[in-house]
Amino acid sequence: MSEVIVGIDLGTTNSEVAVWQNGKLTIISENDSKLIPSFVGLDNNNALLVGEPAKNQYMVYPERTIKSVKRKMGEDDKLSLGENSYSPQEISAIILKKLKKMAENHLNCEVHKAVITVPAYFSDIQRQATREAGDIAGLEVVKMINEPTAAALTYESGHQDSRRILVYDLGGGTFDVSVVQVEDDIIEVVAGHGNNHLGGDDFDHKITQHIITHLHEEHGISEAELSPGALARIERAAEAAKQTLSDNPFAEISEEYLAERDGVPINLSLELSRMEYEEMITPFIDETLEAVHIALKGAKLTASDIEEIVLVGGSTRTPLVKNRLTEEFGFHPRGEINPDLCVASGAAMQAAMIGGEKVSAVLVDITPYTFGTSAFSELDGMPYPHVFVPLIEKNTPIPVAKSEVFGTMYDDQEAVEVTVYQGENIDALQNISIGKFRVEGLSKGPANNKIIITCELDKDGILHVTAKEKNSGLQRNISINNAISRFEENELDHAKNKIASLFNEGREDIEEENTATPKSSTERKMHVQAKALVEKAERLFDDVDPDDREEMVNLIEEINDAMAANNSDAMAEAVEGLSEIIYYLES
Ligand code: AMP
Repeated sequence: MSEVIVGIDLGTTNSEVAVWQNGKLTIISENDSKLIPSFVGLDNNNALLVGEPAKNQYMVYPERTIKSVKRKMGEDDKLSLGENSYSPQEISAIILKKLKKMAENHLNCEVHKAVITVPAYFSDIQRQATREAGDIAGLEVVKMINEPTAAALTYESGHQDSRRILVYDLGGGTFDVSVVQVEDDIIEVVAGHGNNHLGGDDFDHKITQHIITHLHEEHGISEAELSPGALARIERAAEAAKQTLSDNPFAEISEEYLAERDGVPINLSLELSRMEYEEMITPFIDETLEAVHIALKGAKLTASDIEEIVLVGGSTRTPLVKNRLTEEFGFHPRGEINPDLCVASGAAMQAAMIGGEKVSAVLVDITPYTFGTSAFSELDGMPYPHVFVPLIEKNTPIPVAKSEVFGTMYDDQEAVEVTVYQGENIDALQNISIGKFRVEGLSKGPANNKIIITCELDKDGILHVTAKEKNSGLQRNISINNAISRFEENELDHAKNKIASLFNEGREDIEEENTATPKSSTERKMHVQAKALVEKAERLFDDVDPDDREEMVNLIEEINDAMAANNSDAMAEAVEGLSEIIYYLES
């Protein structure tokens, strides 16, 4: 058996070790965690701490803990730890040694060789320092590869064609963007740009400041009055809230006993919405997009030349990142391989190739379909009650759970109906309806009573959908068994219907020529939109003066007549008239 070579991502915030064996990739874990925080420390008894224990102690004894040593690689500075001082290579070597040991425990053999990844912008001196760190740890660095190259390798191995890829890497403290050219087996970084001081830590900081302002406004307590321990707890709570907001529309932030005033404990209890949070971080995301354009310019390319975007780094789980990139490039970025682990995966693949193994694409369990629900919104500039709202996007790794918030439409609304769809069409009615349920007995109150809908796809492909009234906790749910495989049949049905309709067969509404039933999907959509508008107008009747009401009634009659006669032109005209009145009334 040839000697095993491991792949290592030696990161600023976290490090990982992976191995490719017998056609299978394994990211090696310890205590169920694959991410080893890049922290090194000494405890009270001068015992060495590496990874999670060192990160935990950082809260209490920052002076006995070193973090982000990667930023110092290649510098002559010494870092003090306890009574001694160490070079950045030595501290990095401690992390590497820890990873080496984890690999040895997992593989049950000694490990002497590694492929280590480095940022594309690392200078020769920084690369040399990384190699030395490997030496100190007892690891021969057989190859160093650029991080974006490793990420691209994870996604692209096994493909034959040539592609231009953008690797967008947003971690805890750094942002890097690289334009990568893939040509058969050769993966090359063509251009790059970045910011060494931009990442998830900045997002945490914004939330922390928001919490401190809240404490000041609510309890009159200033930042200076908070102990370092209380501040550290606030920072942790801020990071946790940030991560919650990646999958949920709201995050509850609560911490007890942060301080004391006149013998009374001061507790924190604050809700943060994703909307508020996104506003806080928009300037940072704008900055990353500016860097993207600088990198593209460096490669003499424009956004339309890019065929794929690969997401790397824990902070790319932030929905705003994905949404802004989708807006900018017109297609969804790829993130199905855990963005924290795809650099280590690529390093392991490169290591296996060097060892002579045949390496194919990494397999991950992903959902092949998008699941979501529908809401009243706008479609083609018109109000429409069935606009599709995706909750779990296709290609998301499973298991996964995502939530979104919706509002009731009118005052004292007592019930909502939730329909679950599978598909991608913005018009939900063009997707496949896979389940439906009602939540009844909602509390009385003004419109926009918040309902949180959660879709959870478990590892067995069962989709659990829950709707919960936010203020009362009232909830209903359904489980759709065997969601993923079942939809293949549904999709088949859907395709069959679609083809049948092209041949004018099989569907009643298409067979019956010259009836009042709309023929095309555009007409069906128009009918649904018109009905929604009529319903909306009728709800406004109580509050309008008699003249307006009469005009509205006439237009509603015109719409109904046009619908019955399937007269699209007349319907469009009446719909426009009614929309104008509603617009005028609402503004
Ligand atoms: P990395 O440097 O790639 O390990 O990324 C670490 C950063 O990713 C930290 O700032 C984390 O708080 C952040 N992160 C991890 N998970 C999430 C998540 N679900 N949503 C947003 N940020 C996350």
